[in-house]
Amino acid sequence: MANVTTHLAGRSAFVTGGAKGIGAAIVRRLAADGAQVVIADLDIAAAQALAQEIWGTAVELDVTDTAQVAAAIAAHGPFDILVNNAGVDQHAFFTKTTPDDWHRLLAINLESVFATTHAALPAMQAAGFGRLINIASEAGRLGSRGGAVYAAAKGGVIAFTRSIARENGGKGITANVIAPGPIDTPLLRQAIEHGGNKLLQAMTSATLAGRLGTPEEVAAAVAFLASTDAGFITGEVLGVSGGMGCGA
Ligand code: NAD
Repeated sequence: MANVTTHLAGRSAFVTGGAKGIGAAIVRRLAADGAQVVIADLDIAAAQALAQEIWGTAVELDVTDTAQVAAAIAAHGPFDILVNNAGVDQHAFFTKTTPDDWHRLLAINLESVFATTHAALPAMQAAGFGRLINIASEAGRLGSRGGAVYAAAKGGVIAFTRSIARENGGKGITANVIAPGPIDTPLLRQAIEHGGNKLLQAMTSATLAGRLGTPEEVAAAVAFLASTDAGFITGEVLGVSGGMGCGA
């Protein structure tokens, strides 16, 4: 592991969707900074390979299964840091979507955050320390053409996180959101395959930076919010989006 630091030494972290994409970069960064990391993912083979690399633990988990989530957190916790990263998008204009699509997108992107927080927060309250970091999207602040339900779910994540921050102020617990813009991951590549070069161009030109972001840039923001240095930052939405959400 390159650039090993120890500012998260002694901390334990639970990262959902940590096997690939942004989640994998978060896992690597938290581990490099000294945390013990549990990777919770549907893709157990990829999670196990990464767990071996970082000397962490892999758990096969579907975040939409509330009972499974509670059992995994009880079995491997308590946790100082919870990163809700698992998420899926679906590109379709709203009138082309079905109630099944809405339920699936809300279950993965929003309700899973309720389930993990419900399971992990009591131990943080008892310990007087906690870092809740939820990966939403700039779509949750700006809306999304072809992603109305996804944007609504991510907007829900923002409102939920701010509410948890309000309920836990003064208890050593912070709750913050990271709102990525277009980040170069398998999820984004899938969308680009569907939408073609025009979509890629639209995405990059929507940022002030004029490019896609990297998973490592999101992970660096997570590591900062997880640190003791970030103890006076709570209820915030931090765009890691090349300025896409500037002014939102
Ligand atoms: P990805 O598809 O590359 O990786 C997602 C990971 O989550 C995978 O390892 C997958 O196996 C896991 N996962 C999916 N459904 C799951 C479930 N039900 N239970 C457990 N694990 C599950 O995605 P990504 O691009 O790395 O996105 C990570 C997060 O960042 C998501 O919440 C996404 O909405 C958000 N985001 C991504 C972008 C982007 O441009 N990539 C932009 C804004 C927000």
